[in-house]
Amino acid sequence: MGGTKILSGVVDREGNVLRRHEGESPATSEADVLAALDASVDALLDDRVSAIGYGVPANLERGTGRVLRATNLHFDDFDLAGHARARFGLPVGVENDANAAALAEWRLGAGRGLSTLVVLTLGTGVGGGIVLDGALYRGWAEVGHLVVLAGGPPCQGACHGRGHLEALASGTAADAVARELFGAEATAHVLVERAQAGDAGARARLAEIGGYLGAAIGSLANLFDPELVVVGGGFGEAAGELVLAPAEEAARREALAPADGTLRVVPAELGSDAGLVGAALVAFEALDGTR
Ligand SMILES: [Zn+2]
Repeated sequence: MGGTKILSGVVDREGNVLRRHEGESPATSEADVLAALDASVDALLDDRVSAIGYGVPANLERGTGRVLRATNLHFDDFDLAGHARARFGLPVGVENDANAAALAEWRLGAGRGLSTLVVLTLGTGVGGGIVLDGALYRGWAEVGHLVVLAGGPPCQGACHGRGHLEALASGTAADAVARELFGAEATAHVLVERAQAGDAGARARLAEIGGYLGAAIGSLANLFDPELVVVGGGFGEAAGELVLAPAEEAARREALAPADGTLRVVPAELGSDAGLVGAALVAFEALDGTR
């Protein structure tokens, strides 16, 4: 589930997306959101489907999966798993969308086989998930709201903080840089294109974004000592090494030994399917009773 669309799919245990469906994410009421969600399941349901998983951009109650508060959706303290189990008669798993994407990158993507890693997604906002000692951290990992520049630009949406990673290294932040450099119509896409074509100003500003990202990663390294930091999301993937290389350099500067020499920042492997595949893995957890 996203703020603008609901992507659903039939996914097998290996992460292959066998069928997919895309619908609008209504911004009107909880009943409308629920109707759209149910329709996105109905569109794909057949006898092969053995469980349903949801990735929701929301804070969930730990242990129950109750949707407490969604950032860009009309969902307020709702038992989505209970609703779906009753309606569809299948095992149901619910997880925060960024956590689900991190689960997918760990199990089936860039983090395969590791036991401690951090996954960051740079899109409209900045999301993330943390795998610690061989288990996904299921709490509120609001990695996008780490402070990387005290007193910096204001954050987005309902966040009243300043200088958060999301305000400095999201696709939205890159859009603002693009407008500043190349005019009102420019977007992060243009910024990356110009940098790839060798524009020194564009390259410098993407390196600056990478520096902010690296500051956050360095702090995360000093907390969790991840073997790997995986960066995905629409903007993260488009910018690639233009942002990741300066991020790794900055992160190593901030990280304590031995991470100052060993920490790696790599691109995500599952692309825009990470959230979808992660939701499926959450469904299989519910089916197998492994949660
Ligand atoms: Zn914030």
